[in-house]
Amino acid sequence: MADLRIVGRAVVDGRLLDEVTVEIDGEFVSSVSIGENGSGPKLLLGKGQLLLPSATDLHVHLRDWNQAYKEDVFTGTSAAAAGGVTTVAEMPNTSPPIRSPEALKERLRLLAARAIVDYSVHVGPLEKVEDANRALELGACGMKLYPADLEKIEDYLKVSRESGMRLVVHAELKGGDEVEAVRMLLSHIKVGDVVRFAHISRAESLKMIELARKELDARITVEATPHHLLLSYDELDENTRKISAVRPPLASIADKQYIFSGLERCSVDFIASDHAPHALEEKLSEQPAPGFPGLEITYPLMLTECLEGRLGISTLIKKLCKSPAEYLGIPKGDIRRGFYADLVVFDTNVRWSVSAKSFLSKAKYTPFEGRRFSVRVASVFRRGELIYDGELLVKGGGAHVRDLRQKRG
Ligand SMILES: [Zn+2]
Repeated sequence: MADLRIVGRAVVDGRLLDEVTVEIDGEFVSSVSIGENGSGPKLLLGKGQLLLPSATDLHVHLRDWNQAYKEDVFTGTSAAAAGGVTTVAEMPNTSPPIRSPEALKERLRLLAARAIVDYSVHVGPLEKVEDANRALELGACGMKLYPADLEKIEDYLKVSRESGMRLVVHAELKGGDEVEAVRMLLSHIKVGDVVRFAHISRAESLKMIELARKELDARITVEATPHHLLLSYDELDENTRKISAVRPPLASIADKQYIFSGLERCSVDFIASDHAPHALEEKLSEQPAPGFPGLEITYPLMLTECLEGRLGISTLIKKLCKSPAEYLGIPKGDIRRGFYADLVVFDTNVRWSVSAKSFLSKAKYTPFEGRRFSVRVASVFRRGELIYDGELLVKGGGAHVRDLRQKRG
């Protein structure tokens, strides 16, 4: 007898099925079958409800430490849970930054104590191979380079080649040019290099990467954010310009359309929120801080695109759930026997407008304010445990991705 059976409409292996039974035993999915089957406690999905795998977000900033006034690990991962995201990978530009194995250890201690969802951490640039090896042993999922680090790209590629530490690049030159930064980076990348381009925003950048992927056998991957996929600078009104300040900046309508089309063309591999909260005063100042929260709305925003016919649902699940989980090496991102029971129930027969006032993030603003959604997160399971059902139901329990790799249901 299963611990729980969820019965109803679900997307399994990229296919929308009308009646499926998903049995959960402990942390894992123990069976998936067509129709209603098995015995034991049952959650029967309502009309209009849809069961999907939960998301893995490869690009979040949870702040905390000296910037706990912007966000902390608890509030940031609560926002994740509320958005149907049960695994996050943190970026290292915290204060102080995560630029050594010691700082990584410290960060992992904090996450273990406070995180609601499962987590992994990127380290900042490390110049010594020994440090990269140590960070890998501790579970680092990649080394993130910021625009100021790109001058030394050859050094970091060398560390990456010798240690096996994957690189993640924020491609922007100091003047803010993404296209030139991508061109420069591609000229250094060789066959075999493993490089993920974070938040690509310009059509020209993506075209160059598409070409390079054909020519080089390097494992180059591309991340896109919901704001670069769905918003453009041209369409913003005066009031939202400060709130929507972000790096790289929002681009033209043609840029966003080209990046969006990259999802179906498979040149965009991951959708990541780049959840980057700041205090409201910092956003409204003359020099608005770059970034805004995104964890709570990324999945509903993108699923709305699917339900309104602009994006295939199997494409979305691949970019938001499956591929990022594979990147982290964990059995998540699909509803499948032996995978972790990381699941979201969505209500799909609703129309509502997003209001950042209700965010669990400390940052209660969004450039998507007022946007109409046709789906809403109803409940979220993290490794078989119900952690959100309109309210947060747990105070912690997030696990380090490294410890989730070997286990299988
Ligand atoms: Zn970022």
